[in-house]
Amino acid sequence: MFVDQVKIYVKGGDGGNGMVAFRREKYVPNGGPAGGDGGKGANVVFEVNEGLRTLMDFRYKRHFKAERGEHGMSKGMHGRGSQDMIVKVPPGTVVIDAETKEVIADLVEHGQQAIIAKGGRGGRGNTRFATPQNPAPEIAENGEPGQERDVILELKLLADVGLVGFPSVGKSTLLSVVSSAKPKIAEYHFTTIVPNLGMVETEDGRSFVMADLPGLIEGASEGVGLGHQFLRHIERTRVIVHVIDMAATEGRDPFEDYLTINKELKEYNLRLTERPQIIVANKMDMPDAEENLELFKEQLEEDHPIFPISALTRKGLRDLLFAVADKIEETPEFPLEHEEETTGVHRVLYKHEADPDAFTITRDPDGSFVLSGEKLERLFRMTDFSREESVRRFARQLRGFGVDDALRQRGAKDGDIVKLLDFEFEFIE
Ligand code: GDP
Ligand code: MG
Repeated sequence: MFVDQVKIYVKGGDGGNGMVAFRREKYVPNGGPAGGDGGKGANVVFEVNEGLRTLMDFRYKRHFKAERGEHGMSKGMHGRGSQDMIVKVPPGTVVIDAETKEVIADLVEHGQQAIIAKGGRGGRGNTRFATPQNPAPEIAENGEPGQERDVILELKLLADVGLVGFPSVGKSTLLSVVSSAKPKIAEYHFTTIVPNLGMVETEDGRSFVMADLPGLIEGASEGVGLGHQFLRHIERTRVIVHVIDMAATEGRDPFEDYLTINKELKEYNLRLTERPQIIVANKMDMPDAEENLELFKEQLEEDHPIFPISALTRKGLRDLLFAVADKIEETPEFPLEHEEETTGVHRVLYKHEADPDAFTITRDPDGSFVLSGEKLERLFRMTDFSREESVRRFARQLRGFGVDDALRQRGAKDGDIVKLLDFEFEFIE
């Protein structure tokens, strides 16, 4: 199994902060609360785009941070929420949490979306904290921090283009000079045959997977169990690149070679002859190549595109790759009859996450109690510690979570120091 794999960082936008403000009206010395809520931070959303075939783009851009929500404003105006950040991924991308190794999403169909990092909600402005007892509260929440994490993207690679041709015509050489990245071979499940596979990127930023097809086919005909995977490769291969040694280095006639290979393709019975074929006249740096090419063109009856190149001197590659990328785009798959994979591939999977309300208490060497936990830390970040009322509310929230009871159980006494992130307070009975 070949996989393209890349680790990236995603962060949802923070929510905007709530505002503390009061109405100022003529003849009204101290109006009611008028601080608006912060807007929602944007999500980082992955979306399948069937035009993408590899994870090549992620080699250049690895950080994805969505925008924060706008802060709340005076006169009761709420901050604007931010637009989700849409990140395009190829079909077949599996998104895995780098830390927990849990599968977050399995993205298959064009247009399918999954939220990979949630944006935080906006903090509430002081308008929302008004009560009959406290009609003019000086309290507002900060925005909730956006979710952040490292994720691994994994894509099982299948050949988009198959190279065919006689031995020693230059297939391996061509593959090595056009592919900028060699995909990883996953440790599991490859019996013997390792087809030569490379990721190719065109100058205009398109990418596709090229494979040495004879390697695959020979392996399969020898029965070295590529099985289903093999068929998927062949099926996915939309374009055949037929490489010909136009210099006739080994004394064979180039046109005869061409006919022989096509006959073979037909015999494999894998719809290979139905695919568009691009003829590559290789070794054009050699003395007799030009003359042979003219002859070849005369013998070839149809009007077939031929790309003269030299894999050795790297001439003619750019145009060839553009033509291949264009052909892939305009050619549909060639389904073969075989059993569908039974593991439903059309699932989107959201793993359920660890209890977010959970918190832990540890002891520092100096005897202080250290609190940690996702929800507690989020509450902490949403608290505006410059305001007395906010701090009191925070203390109440901790009590509500059972933090006080838990501290007591761990032996906390009046006056002991308790820490949470960079905040310290005294435990008071
Ligand atoms: P494959 O069997 O089709 O994979 O062929 P290889 O890529 O292994 O190439 C066979 C031989 O042809 C090697 O010695 C290459 O260096 C040589 N070769 C490949 N491409 C070119 C080319 O464009 N020009 C010349 N002169 N030699 C080439
Ligand atoms: Mg080879």
